[in-house]
Amino acid sequence: MEPTRLLYMEDMAALEGTATVQEVVDLEGKTIVFLDQTLFYAQGGGQPYDKGSITTDSATFEVEEVRYMDGMIKHIGHFTSGRFASGDAVQLHVEPVRRALHRRLHSGGHVVDLALKRLDIPWIPGKGYHFPDGPYVEYAGSLGDQDRDALRAEIEKACNDIIAENITTRIEFVDADELQKRGFAIPPTLAPGKPLRIVYYGDFGVPCGGTHVSELADLRSMTIRKLKPEGGNIRVAYDVER
Ligand SMILES: [Zn+2]
Repeated sequence: MEPTRLLYMEDMAALEGTATVQEVVDLEGKTIVFLDQTLFYAQGGGQPYDKGSITTDSATFEVEEVRYMDGMIKHIGHFTSGRFASGDAVQLHVEPVRRALHRRLHSGGHVVDLALKRLDIPWIPGKGYHFPDGPYVEYAGSLGDQDRDALRAEIEKACNDIIAENITTRIEFVDADELQKRGFAIPPTLAPGKPLRIVYYGDFGVPCGGTHVSELADLRSMTIRKLKPEGGNIRVAYDVER
């Protein structure tokens, strides 16, 4: 099979599209559909997978889970009617409400990064958890003996100021050399074979494969829920207006 083309890397807003079936595999009571290209986001980079359905005129496949492995996207789920054969042309339908929230939550994590930069807080970004059940971003650094609630309020204000500027998200594809030339390290969590992409708000870029809002005003507003030390890091718990 050919590697799956990741259409969501190029167009983070597209929810409907077409693809061709490469293979359908039954495994442990579930079915896995492999396509030549997909709009479905596979879990990774701190962002949950998309759900939705894949259809033809005679078959419907409910996508319950989406995973990335060795260049391939695995659409995992069940046929509720009919079945696909290799070579079938199919329609992709990404569940819009779930994706919309994931885009807003992921972009919110980047807004926290930008807010810290603007406030000259020298924490080094680590992992992000952009899940709806309690999103946070972690940094290497020290909270010291600062007034935590004052700092929390200051970061929150900076985030909302950034949202008010309504910056447009810009994406740029680069190779590994170009990424390093721009001063970024190759993300250690980058899966082999995945394209390298930088997500920019103005001149603030973060190498990232997630899906983002087109304009930061889509976040409406943000809260910083908590600042706390976490296993040698600082965890900044945040949320977007729901
Ligand atoms: Zn990201």
